[in-house]
Amino acid sequence: MFVDSVSIIVKAGAGGPGKVSFRREKYIPKGGPDGGDGGDGGSVVFQADSGLNTLYDFRGRTTWEAPTGDPGLAKQAAGRDAEDLVIRLPPGTMIYDEDTGALLHDLKPGESIVIAKGGRGGRGNEHFKHSTNQTPRTAEPGTPGEEKRLRLELKLIADVGLVGKPNAGKSTMLAAMTRANPKIAAYPFTTLSPQLGICEVDATRRLVIADIPGLIEGAAQGAGLGLDFLRHIERTRVLVHLLDVLPPDGETPAGNYRAIRAELAAHSDKLADKPELIVLNKLDLLPDQAERDRAVKDLCRELNLDPRRDLIVTSGATGLNLRDLADRLWRMVNEKPGTTEWGTGEAVAWKSAPWKPTPGPAAPAASGPQPSAPALKPTPKAAPKPAPKPAQKMGKKPAQKVTKKPATKPVKKVVKKASGKPVKKASGKPVKKSSKKPARRGTR
Ligand code: GDP
Ligand code: MG
Repeated sequence: MFVDSVSIIVKAGAGGPGKVSFRREKYIPKGGPDGGDGGDGGSVVFQADSGLNTLYDFRGRTTWEAPTGDPGLAKQAAGRDAEDLVIRLPPGTMIYDEDTGALLHDLKPGESIVIAKGGRGGRGNEHFKHSTNQTPRTAEPGTPGEEKRLRLELKLIADVGLVGKPNAGKSTMLAAMTRANPKIAAYPFTTLSPQLGICEVDATRRLVIADIPGLIEGAAQGAGLGLDFLRHIERTRVLVHLLDVLPPDGETPAGNYRAIRAELAAHSDKLADKPELIVLNKLDLLPDQAERDRAVKDLCRELNLDPRRDLIVTSGATGLNLRDLADRLWRMVNEKPGTTEWGTGEAVAWKSAPWKPTPGPAAPAASGPQPSAPALKPTPKAAPKPAPKPAQKMGKKPAQKVTKKPATKPVKKVVKKASGKPVKKASGKPVKKSSKKPARRGTR
């Protein structure tokens, strides 16, 4: 399981100091103390936001500080309470005390907790008047806000699971689309546990993609690397079914597809019903346009697919159509259940030149630009490394990644406290006791 982890320091604001002041008005001599209380410091609040799925935004910022309360004012006016610092976190974030290692909280969806409480405002000098001290010159300072060193941990749940036969190119695809660094080799089962990576579709849109390795026949019965991985993909929202355009074992892409689908269905209906995108991969192995056409046509005929809607052709090694793939996956992940795009019957508008088969009897005629696939020499099938460098490594774009502040950084949203500190009502001059006993009359 992939764990995202960051260490941060949260500091709540201190309370504002109370005020020392005396009422000074014309015709009111000795008005008495009227210094108001300091405002309370802002607390640091963690709020679960289901729109977030990583702790990515915490990179590069370690200290999160809420503002302090305003000092008290004269005329019994209290200082303003500071606003809370609300930090949004993905649900499922585990909050640990960095120093003791104790689990402080497991953030549930929709939850909001005060993780560091703001200090209380100090009392002004009006609170200290006393029969023996009518002119107190003391007021309290505010109390300090809580400060904590925390470690946040999140078990990442992938939006997209990559499934396919061993060697279909899943690890290569993950490496090309994200910054993950999985093992890639020409033999099956190089990946022994699910690998996750974060794909930045653009500055604000991110997908968590998991390479789910080694689905083999019998996985549902516990053979091979099966069950754990199947459990993991059950939690993803969309499956990408990767098919090698030239399977090495003499199989056909369609045959491989059916074998994996049978595995998924044997495991659970939930899995089989997941939205799925079929991706015909390693297209760089077929530099000849006619061969590509034939491969797509064969697959579509065998699986009864519409080439314009149901599949996308890619090459993890050269980066062909990977941006389109990311775009399309983003839309699938963010669609409401039951409204997948192939359900509406609309053709998907790809941004860059999509794969279009040439018209033929088996596949519907397609118009538009021809594919922009680079004409490559066929790479030997068992080459240990992908021969050509990916043309557009999406996860490895320049500066933008490192220097740019993420657009969706945890919003330093400030929430007004519902209960503003009520300003103390003027209590007026200390009233002289009127129930004094009348002076005793002298007895005659
Ligand atoms: P996985 O088992 O599904 O994770 O597959 P890998 O990503 O480990 O790839 C298996 C083999 O196929 C490796 O030798 C890769 O270099 C090769 N490979 C992966 N993607 C491509 C591709 O798009 N084109 C070509 N020509 N080879 C690829
Ligand atoms: Mg792999």
